[in-house]
Amino acid sequence: MSEARVLEAVDDRRKELIEFAQKLVSIPSENPPGGEKEVVAAITPVIDRYSLGETRVVGRDTSRPNILTTMKGNGEGKRLLYNGHTDVVPVGQEERSHWKTDPFGAEIIDGELYGRGSADMKGPIASMLYGAIALKEAGASFTGDLVLAFTADEENGGYYGAQYVSEEGLAGADVCLIGEPSGMKSGFDYLATACRGATCFKLVVRGTQMHSSQSDIRNAVNAGLKLCKVLYRMSEELEIRHEPHPLYPQGVTINLGETLSGGLEYCIIPGYAEAKNDIRVLPGMSKEPVMKDLNDFLDKLRREDPQLDVELVLDDGQGWVEGAEIPADHPMVTTLAGATSTVLGFSPVTGGFTGGTDAKHFVSVANTPTISAFGPGLLSLAHGPNERVPVEDLIKGAKIYALAALRYLQ
Ligand SMILES: [Zn+2]
Repeated sequence: MSEARVLEAVDDRRKELIEFAQKLVSIPSENPPGGEKEVVAAITPVIDRYSLGETRVVGRDTSRPNILTTMKGNGEGKRLLYNGHTDVVPVGQEERSHWKTDPFGAEIIDGELYGRGSADMKGPIASMLYGAIALKEAGASFTGDLVLAFTADEENGGYYGAQYVSEEGLAGADVCLIGEPSGMKSGFDYLATACRGATCFKLVVRGTQMHSSQSDIRNAVNAGLKLCKVLYRMSEELEIRHEPHPLYPQGVTINLGETLSGGLEYCIIPGYAEAKNDIRVLPGMSKEPVMKDLNDFLDKLRREDPQLDVELVLDDGQGWVEGAEIPADHPMVTTLAGATSTVLGFSPVTGGFTGGTDAKHFVSVANTPTISAFGPGLLSLAHGPNERVPVEDLIKGAKIYALAALRYLQ
């Protein structure tokens, strides 16, 4: 069996792979609320048709399932996990008018598949699945296991998806690759060996709700105004101390006022106001020092203004999310770069992912070294209107994933 036969086996199924990607894109699994069940229902028959391996559909909630398939090699060997998420971000009512196609029409125009999730990341799921099918159909021989895990809920933190399968011990592997779209300027030009973590928190300010006509004779503490002052001071002065990280020379980012709410109506001094915020932290940073910097800063503001009643409330799910990193010389990173070079004639640049991916769960819960993102599609086109991916890149992705698995599992 030669590698050439594996690549041919991908080419033999080009049409099928593209139609499968279209089928996935046509399912509106917007999260919230999710709707991953229908995506799993579309994946299952393909896995069954090719008898890929032992398959399980599992989840915290039956309406938010995850599907895992284990392809067994010949004999003992390493365990390689390929992961993709089956949910997509919402299109948005307002943004829908900016699309030139139906976001769930899965149309192909000038060689590009359009639709929400085409790049992020139903197209990459099609590439991963057909890469595995090509190995099977070409009779490829490898040791160990190739596990495909298509999981729910990535776009909303992964509680039903990667976090669940990690907690249940289903995601333990020697290494994991997440096929998130990672192209920066062109397809496959970038391989993310790290991703940022985050702390998501609310700032809640309480004041005295009262008739605004009396604000000059009674002591009015305007919660809305106080919150604005807190946010302004933080934007100007807050520093989160951390070690420099070579992949993130720009450091952490502090993102304030992502939502703002409070108050009731004209003529009422607001007694309550809140804002949602996040700080994107770097791989290797830990929670306690970040919380200390935040709390010390708020204490300073409280000392300056005894009327300030401000509380920091960490988000239930995303209050603290670790960053993740795998060494750039890890055997799977170099194997992927080598497979890319064979298929495309160039190697991707390695570096950090600006955002977060499900890597955090695989690393911090399942203890599996994880490549945060390497997959077809451009990151800049994800989450926006007219999301699209060249169908040729889906074929290339399948070839790269197949070769990389074959080489890594020797
Ligand atoms: Zn994604």
